[in-house]
Amino acid sequence: MSLTQLARAQVQALTPYQSARRIGGQGHIWLNANEAADSGSFSLDCSRLNRYPECQPPAVINGYAAYAGVAPEQVLVSRGGDEGIELLIRTFCEPGRDSIIICTPTYGMYAISAETNGVGIIDVPLKASRQPDFDGIIDRLGEAKLVFLCSPNNPTGDLVEQSSLIRLLEAARGRALVVVDEAYIEFCPEHSQAGLLADYPELVLIRTLSKAFGLAGIRCGFTLANPEVVQLLLKVIAPYPIPEPVAQIAAQALSEDGLARMRARVAEINRLKAELAGQLAGHAQVKDVFAPNGNYLLVRFTPGSAVFDRMSRAGIILRDFSGKPGLADCIRITIGQQAEMDAVLAVLQQEQ
Ligand SMILES: *Cc1c(COP(=O)(O)O)cnc(C)c1O
Repeated sequence: MSLTQLARAQVQALTPYQSARRIGGQGHIWLNANEAADSGSFSLDCSRLNRYPECQPPAVINGYAAYAGVAPEQVLVSRGGDEGIELLIRTFCEPGRDSIIICTPTYGMYAISAETNGVGIIDVPLKASRQPDFDGIIDRLGEAKLVFLCSPNNPTGDLVEQSSLIRLLEAARGRALVVVDEAYIEFCPEHSQAGLLADYPELVLIRTLSKAFGLAGIRCGFTLANPEVVQLLLKVIAPYPIPEPVAQIAAQALSEDGLARMRARVAEINRLKAELAGQLAGHAQVKDVFAPNGNYLLVRFTPGSAVFDRMSRAGIILRDFSGKPGLADCIRITIGQQAEMDAVLAVLQQEQ
């Protein structure tokens, strides 16, 4: 008997998440994982590393609550936004019985976390307008405990329309939680749904320090929710999820200085993004530039595979979405530094 046969049947059948890191690639310009081009610098006090850290470090919780404009009781900190997603599934979904609703094409971790936990997946695909099919979701609410929406959506960049979200929240009252993943909301903060948390107890937001804060390497994310939901998640989370150095860096990132640096980074990325979008729009090999609301642009090329290969030969690693339904020939480009954007355009201008 092989060791693999000892594993849960569910796990034997799994394909691991194809993260940008795992797919990898040869290159020196990494524009495939929506990482920031810089992280800034931080100081560490190592005098307390002999002690277990706090489960929910108050400096981090209070800092994030102040930044997000919510009460500390509405904030949970976890190992990246990904752990927040998984905790929601483990807390609210009975394995083998309950399901989540996702709206593809979207972020892959909702489905992966459901699958690893034996939870069903109901896909209500985005409409041709790339908005969630709210009527379709409401029709199937009775079959699901959690609805995952992503705004701005990764990879298409579209925002969830607020009046439709409210309609869904009203239909979900007492029946299901509606999770809006705002991993990229710092790039368009005026579109956050955080203002709805006070009136809609079924609303949950996912946030992260991995994108606009430039801290993907520390693995720190947040769940914003009704205090009752936060208390339930705290029953399931590991006792010491946030390493002490992570807590120290996160607290500094959320200080007044840290927030100012984040906002400067966002302004620069949004400037480079607008410039790139403008230059791509007029290009013969570009068919479509999708909604520019995150730190990335999804672009439909003619044809996508040839552009992807040429970029790859030039050492530029992008993320290929051409295999996803509705996204033929689409490639996602993370907005990096000026020189990196220039390199992308230079490859595009080359003779084919
Ligand atoms: C990056 C990302 C996250 C979370 O990332 P973490 O690094 O785990 O915090 C969540 N949702 C979306 C849509 C993302 O793109």
